[in-house]
Amino acid sequence: MNVKNHDTRFEAMEISEIVEENSYTKTYVFKYDLGAKPGQFVMLWVPGVDEKPFSVAYCDSGEFWLTICAVGPCSKAIYEMKVGDRVGIRGPFGTEYDIGEGEHLALVSGGYGAAPMYFVAKEALKKGCKVEFLTGARSEDLLLFEERVAGLGDDVTWHCSTDDGSKGFKGYVTQLLSEVMKDVKLDKIFACGPEVMMKAAGEAAGDVPAYLSMEKYMKCGFGVCGQCAIDDTGDLCCKKGPVMAYDYVKGLSEFGKYHRDAQGKKNEY
Ligand SMILES: Cc1cc2nc3c(=O)[nH]c(=O)nc-3n(C[C@H](O)[C@H](O)[C@H](O)COP(=O)(O)OP(=O)(O)OC[C@H]3O[C@@H](n4cnc5c(N)ncnc54)[C@H](O)[C@@H]3O)c2cc1C
Repeated sequence: MNVKNHDTRFEAMEISEIVEENSYTKTYVFKYDLGAKPGQFVMLWVPGVDEKPFSVAYCDSGEFWLTICAVGPCSKAIYEMKVGDRVGIRGPFGTEYDIGEGEHLALVSGGYGAAPMYFVAKEALKKGCKVEFLTGARSEDLLLFEERVAGLGDDVTWHCSTDDGSKGFKGYVTQLLSEVMKDVKLDKIFACGPEVMMKAAGEAAGDVPAYLSMEKYMKCGFGVCGQCAIDDTGDLCCKKGPVMAYDYVKGLSEFGKYHRDAQGKKNEY
């Protein structure tokens, strides 16, 4: 996987459009040539509040999108912002998904993971790939990006799951992956979402190479602060990741068990 040269300076950027996705998620459009690859992230600074990493949900030469769920202080401050408000952006940072020509891919996502996977699907189509787009949520109202994915054409197939059965397969998206794999021979599986979900996706993948978008608490985003060091390797998630091979990740002592907070304290999943 390639690591793009990144810009560690802030760029003040205006929000040019906001799309409401569900009761606590919005997509923010910035008119800027970011040059991001699918899987990469930016650091977004809200002056006076905090700075956090967010995956790029779409990027072309004219604009890029971030899809953000309001869960804590920084993301809730972003949720209250309006078109024309300015934030600081650094990046893009991190590794990208390695998409080969003509591959048959499964993109497996949970929660806001559907948004960065949309960007992956767009780029995969440019390389003549076929895409099984699988996404899961607790209930129908929380599923993201269905219409956008439907607009990608016949080479992308949408599959969804809900925990409560209100839409699509009743159960976890990783169970749905096992169902899809009965009918489709995949070249690669890419997963983005809660770590426990990605662990199950890696296990379900069997012999198919799987790549996961790992999230650790990040502060600088480009390998200086050491906040996102991975137990017990010391590798930095912001540099070695966020996209990493399941074959590497599955051997990590913390994988699927706990994550560390801003103070480095362990929090069990
Ligand atoms: C590479 C990367 C990409 C991300 N992409 C997106 C995205 O596209 N959209 C989006 O909405 N969010 C994304 N996040 C999460 C985002 O960076 C923030 O963590 C989130 O918005 C919460 O920040 P907060 O200050 O609002 O709340 P906080 O108070 O910081 O967090 C609220 C809750 O989330 C948990 N949490 C915070 N950060 C992490 C973490 N890194 N790993 C596990 N749990 C955590 C906290 O323990 C707490 O329970 C990404 C994170 C990473 C590392």
